Amino acid sequence: MSVITTERHGDVLVITSDNPPVNALGHAVRLGLQEGIQQAAGDDSVKAVVIACKGRTFFAGADITEFSKGMKEPGLPTVVDAIEALDKPVVAAIHGTALGGGCEVALACHYRIGVPSAKMGLPEVKLGILPGAGGTQRLPRVIGIPAALGMMTGGSPISAKQAKQAGLLDRLAGEDSLLQDAIAFANEVAETRPLPRTSERTVEGNDAMFEEFRTANARKMRGYEAPYEIIDVVQSTWDKPYAEGVQRERQSFMKLIMGTQSAGLRHVFFAERKASKIDDVPEDIKLRDIKRVGVIGAGTMGGGISMNFLSAGIPVTIVEMQQEALDRGVGIMRKNYESTAKKGRITQDQVEAAMGALTPTLSMEDLADCDLIIEAVYESMDVKKDVFGKLDKIAKPGAILASNTSYLSIDEIAASTSRPGDVVGMHFFSPANIMKLLEVVRGEKTDKDVLATVMALSKKIRKVAVVSGVCYGFIGNRMLIPRQLEAQKLLMEGATPSQVDKVHTDFGMPMGPFQMADLAGVDIGWHRDPSRIENIRDALCAEDRWGQKKGAGFYDYDEKRQPSPSPRVAEIIDDFRKKTGAQQHEVTDEEIVARTLYPMVSEGAKILAEGIAQRASDIDVVWIYGYGWPPYRGGPMFWADTIGARTVVEGLEKYGLEVAPLLREKAEKGERFN
Ligand code: NAD
Repeated sequence: MSVITTERHGDVLVITSDNPPVNALGHAVRLGLQEGIQQAAGDDSVKAVVIACKGRTFFAGADITEFSKGMKEPGLPTVVDAIEALDKPVVAAIHGTALGGGCEVALACHYRIGVPSAKMGLPEVKLGILPGAGGTQRLPRVIGIPAALGMMTGGSPISAKQAKQAGLLDRLAGEDSLLQDAIAFANEVAETRPLPRTSERTVEGNDAMFEEFRTANARKMRGYEAPYEIIDVVQSTWDKPYAEGVQRERQSFMKLIMGTQSAGLRHVFFAERKASKIDDVPEDIKLRDIKRVGVIGAGTMGGGISMNFLSAGIPVTIVEMQQEALDRGVGIMRKNYESTAKKGRITQDQVEAAMGALTPTLSMEDLADCDLIIEAVYESMDVKKDVFGKLDKIAKPGAILASNTSYLSIDEIAASTSRPGDVVGMHFFSPANIMKLLEVVRGEKTDKDVLATVMALSKKIRKVAVVSGVCYGFIGNRMLIPRQLEAQKLLMEGATPSQVDKVHTDFGMPMGPFQMADLAGVDIGWHRDPSRIENIRDALCAEDRWGQKKGAGFYDYDEKRQPSPSPRVAEIIDDFRKKTGAQQHEVTDEEIVARTLYPMVSEGAKILAEGIAQRASDIDVVWIYGYGWPPYRGGPMFWADTIGARTVVEGLEKYGLEVAPLLREKAEKGERFN
């Protein structure tokens, strides 16, 4: 059966797409639409056309698997132009999400009607490209330049109500009467001429408008090519005829789609989806039921972890050792929710509902009815073993026992219980209520259904989960270690903290190694003996320079936490340079890249070879969602693919650094990780 069918409703021809799950505009759909329009053109008794979709949604975008294969004719630009060129009115009947190509189909129709729950958007920018079927030309003509730039460079969809206000929808339909309302609309406008063709409209504009937009959004768009290309396309075409504009759009589309950034962003799109699959766990494995979650420790992590579940409507019991710590932790959670409510992102009722589902307690026995218990106490094996030993006696049979440890062995923790199969690592990232990544640490004995349950649950709390094997620091933190080590050495050899950090922020990272140390706390892992000063870190800690929390670390901070280079730190570094007699030289940016970023790739290669990560793309997902690696560079392993494993090996060798065997092998064979 064809994915596109046509049916007469009186004078109106209804063209319906039924291409589950999301009516993606693959070849068969495009061909069917073209034929439907031809049928309408060739039949005098057809007075108007409605384009509608069955299932969950209107066309929710292109079929992105076609991107790499090349698109078969008719391409979407041909189809949308055929729709608009028809000499009878065409009405788009929109429900669900009209995204990307779907939104462009709607824009090419002469009229648009949608249900109140519908959404419309042009998210192409998220894949590093731009709307390539007339979207950059039609949208500004319909909703004005600033609004169109906002939608196309931001990529987020707008609601039907907003679309109606902006003029993108002509009408709102009844939630349950879309088709009838669309047919009625089509009958109403059947004789109206001239047909309102969006490509023929004109729009107001001037150069200042574009400059303003660039300035206002500079921070959000930093490093990304596609949003700037979108602005350029619109700026150079808004006052030109449509035919000229689409040519420019096409050129830019081709340029972007062939580029590294789009390849990186598309890689991330697929990598994220792949990450949820565990090679040896059947997809239909029976999951454990998680109705109530327990959290042990209401510190930095415990509070944030609890919020994830509360926000998803899952009740939480949180345990602390002392009333004061419990009150403080719960207080911070409430404050976080209230500030989100103040920004209008949740309602006060939602704040109360979330906090109402929280049961604070000082008694671990209260965890007896929890289906999943996550430990977030101090990072000490002895403390964790003690907690898990107690949990073993309290938790009900079948409960999942998880640890949020950053570095420690899940196997050793599991061994302190009589049920190691139920034990798993759930490594959240700080702030845990915000950061998207969840490293799910698979112990040697972790049961498959435990893993699968945690992976499924991660979707409910809107995390991106990646499975890691057991090793010191798992995937993410383990790769930080060689980076921090080299960054420290660079200081000793002549670099400054701000020089190293700037190379990282210019690369697109949210912060560099020293800014990160200041944020996380320079004192983490410090031996706490101010008289023992063996390295720069010891010296900073001994002087109370523990980072942002103390107003001083590798940088000085003002009241607004704005950093500035610290003369005192320069003295400390200088002191150490003299003491150790480290060779000084001019450190170049190229050297900083080679010495701090290439070792991460090498460590990633080891992680892959050891089977700690299932696939290279999982490593990329960890670094993008856990540490802010710029998505347009596709993650560390994908980035290595783009610059070539050989370049990485040469760089490491130049500075006498370790080269992982798998990395060397890739370089020699000219192979990629991804
Ligand atoms: P924290 O010191 O802020 O909080 C730990 C809390 O646990 C304290 O409030 C303490 O009173 C409580 N606690 C200790 N023993 C307890 C017990 N037996 N019963 C009940 N409560 C107990 O520490 P944190 O930063 O939240 O770290 C917790 C864990 O999360 C550590 O394993 C850490 O490595 C890991 N982690 C931390 C971060 C981070 O950035 N802070 C990120 C990822 C993982």
